[in-house]
Amino acid sequence: MLPFKLVYSDDYYLPIGRHVFPAEKYKRIHDRLLASGIAAPSDFVAPRPATDEDVLLVHTPEYVYKLKTGSLSAREELELEVPYSPELARAFWLAAGGSVLAADHALIDGVAINIGGGFHHAFPDHGEGFCMLNDVAIAIRCMQRDKKIRKAMTVDCDVHQGNGTAAIFSGAGLGTRPRSSHAEDVFTISLHQLSNYPAHKPASSLDLNLPDGMGDADYLACLGDALSMGLEKFEPELICYIAGADPYRDDQLGGLSLTIEGLKQRDALVFQTAKTRGVPVMVTLAGGYAAKVEDTVTIHFNTVVAAKAVSSGQS
Ligand SMILES: [Zn+2]
Repeated sequence: MLPFKLVYSDDYYLPIGRHVFPAEKYKRIHDRLLASGIAAPSDFVAPRPATDEDVLLVHTPEYVYKLKTGSLSAREELELEVPYSPELARAFWLAAGGSVLAADHALIDGVAINIGGGFHHAFPDHGEGFCMLNDVAIAIRCMQRDKKIRKAMTVDCDVHQGNGTAAIFSGAGLGTRPRSSHAEDVFTISLHQLSNYPAHKPASSLDLNLPDGMGDADYLACLGDALSMGLEKFEPELICYIAGADPYRDDQLGGLSLTIEGLKQRDALVFQTAKTRGVPVMVTLAGGYAAKVEDTVTIHFNTVVAAKAVSSGQS
């Protein structure tokens, strides 16, 4: 049995047909966690869809209305890069509910992992890059609304910059004046490949623009620096770790060169740093487009293994 909860539903599956996004990965990770004995059925908790009230803490009423009524324009659907359907909208509402539940459990147990979510390219008024709702931002705003936390930090290690998250929280920037009333309550860190999607990268509180082909050692050094810098400036009561599998060297949409082992060390570094500082961590999975889907599944599976090792003091 794990010392923390895994949030999962079979309904995380995204009905998008043949697509570079491997929508079946969630179930495969779940099945592998059970088959390997890393997790037991009792470690899993099932999410409920986020309420519209929760979603509206981040997204505009106009955008939510379009999603509920299927009235996105052709251009908006193109930008989303996944085909709209009411079923797809329901899956995103469920993923957002999963991240809210994971945040809740992280505050109780110190760690919780949503075997889904991480849709960091969703903006308040539109979706893009396979992301309809920004589940992480919704979870943070729910925790703040319910007075469970005041301050949160996002640590986005997907290979693509967290543009939606950065825009939502209007990164205060290190040493610069906050640009919004909320800017001081969420600190956003993004480590990403510079020459990759999105072309326009709104400023996070701390952006690390990484060169093409960066490998394990350099990446881990950058991540360590980013965590130290961020945690020196800001004392979050919750870290939202966006554990993208796409910095992997065989990723079809990524241009960094991390190995599977390096990605596991990345996860361990985040968990260990948070544990040392006594900050709870909520995890979401985000992207992963390895040429072999099995590799993406392994990288996400390893995130749970790393969390388990750090939580039980084995690393
Ligand atoms: Zn990505």
